[in-house]
Amino acid sequence: SNVSAEEPQLAEPHLGAVLASAGLDAEYVRAEGNILYQRGEDGGEIPVVDYAGGYGSLLLGHNNPAITAYAKELLDAGVPVHSQFSLHPEAAELALALNRIVRRETGDAEPFFAVFANTGAEANEAAVKHAEMDRGIRLGALLESIGSGLAAVREAVRDGSATVPTEVFTRLGLGPHAAGAAALDELIDHINAHNEAQAQRPPVFLTPEGSFHGKLVSTVQLTHNEGYRTPFRALAAQARFVPLDQPGALRKIVDEERGTLLGLVVEDGQVRVSEQESPVICAFILEPVQGEGGIRELSPEFVREIQEVCAEVGTPVIVDEIQSGMGRTGDFLAGTRLGLRGDYYTLAKSLGGGLAKISVLLVRASRYQGQFELIHSSTFAKDGFSNRIALKVLELLEADDGAAYRRAAELGDRLLAVLGSVRDDFPEVVKDVRGRGLMLGLEFHDQSGAAAPPVAEAARAGLFGYLVAGHLLRAHRVRTFPTASAPGTLRFEPSIQLSDDDIAWLESALRDTCDIIRGGYQRPLALP
Ligand code: PMP
Repeated sequence: SNVSAEEPQLAEPHLGAVLASAGLDAEYVRAEGNILYQRGEDGGEIPVVDYAGGYGSLLLGHNNPAITAYAKELLDAGVPVHSQFSLHPEAAELALALNRIVRRETGDAEPFFAVFANTGAEANEAAVKHAEMDRGIRLGALLESIGSGLAAVREAVRDGSATVPTEVFTRLGLGPHAAGAAALDELIDHINAHNEAQAQRPPVFLTPEGSFHGKLVSTVQLTHNEGYRTPFRALAAQARFVPLDQPGALRKIVDEERGTLLGLVVEDGQVRVSEQESPVICAFILEPVQGEGGIRELSPEFVREIQEVCAEVGTPVIVDEIQSGMGRTGDFLAGTRLGLRGDYYTLAKSLGGGLAKISVLLVRASRYQGQFELIHSSTFAKDGFSNRIALKVLELLEADDGAAYRRAAELGDRLLAVLGSVRDDFPEVVKDVRGRGLMLGLEFHDQSGAAAPPVAEAARAGLFGYLVAGHLLRAHRVRTFPTASAPGTLRFEPSIQLSDDDIAWLESALRDTCDIIRGGYQRPLALP
């Protein structure tokens, strides 16, 4: 490094100190496949097997040779990287390739339009913005048609072709009224005031408890973790968090939030009140397999309930496949096996092949508002380099009739079997192992009553997983981290370049760690 020890540390020093406290302050000098290398004191390389996998961005491994070779080719050829506001045939090709894969898996006949962005949270922000724009347009159209209906009723009452029965007034809580122009005006004022109040309600988002959808202004309000979310509550629309696997809970929340718009119609010469669903609930956003929430796959029953209730109230479903997608679970989309059909999909992480920063929002054609393209953009989005890298990633995933997906599924089964054998041998230490493909989690039993005071203290602070991660790194050169919102669960999200040796390496590291925990820390964890 060119920075001397006397210089102040100005790049997020607080985070560095937190990492150091668990012995996680490692520096890596090279990366290849499933391995990161540290520099040893003798100048040699020390390999670390990587189960954090870039938090999901490295399904194809660090510096995948096919991707780095292609990147060099692109740079040598001088492809335009920043040519905003010009035609991007490679982006059109990427959108078509994504459509072919998504439609093959979901069986959905409708096309999806693609809006490109840079990060996962940004793609979700775009989804939120698009859904809100669409909601505003639908709300405006409803109010307009109600307005024309009211004008027509006024005309019909004026020319005597319709009368207003008293029950119309009582129904709206206005008390009995004599029919007449003044009474009709009062009725219409009441309806307009009701509709105006409905239209002014802020949008409501729904998302399962445990969700993680990013840390930007609107997406952090859809991220369940209170530490991330609550300091910024005032900045954006709020979500209702739906408990997992409590049949009926979603419907109850929807019934609490939904609203109606009122109108008037004439039927057989009589004025009647009409009611329509007001689009208050902007979107339901979910991860088919929750990542940061502790590697939890949604149940097919919950997915079915979500689809039914959302269809009933006309709420679009945003499927966040940022961590679970791109083949990690053995399908391109983790929602495929759950029978999930989204109106929006977001993809990021492994879409950039571990080299480019790219994310994409896919929007069902029948929901798509083309004006969005004119009011949402980023300097860096849809750049010529990232688009082409993403196309290469899709080509690699789809090669040999989807060999990469099969590899992710098969490696995942083997890894899960190993985690399961550790759980079976240490049931008093390991509470659960779960996940699908190369998106696996191992949850420890609560250690807040552990015999070793520093361990108990860390566990009470929600940091036990970080102590274990520090031990795995320092004692075993295994890199992993707890999931961000469920710190008692370790994540295992390696690349499809994972080898048998890597799996055996992890197994012995986990067995040693579980042995220490079961032994009441008589033998200590390797901490700084
Ligand atoms: N959604 C999910 C499901 C994620 O796992 C993440 C990142 N952990 C994000 C969104 C946010 O992505 P990014 O970090 O690229 O903003």
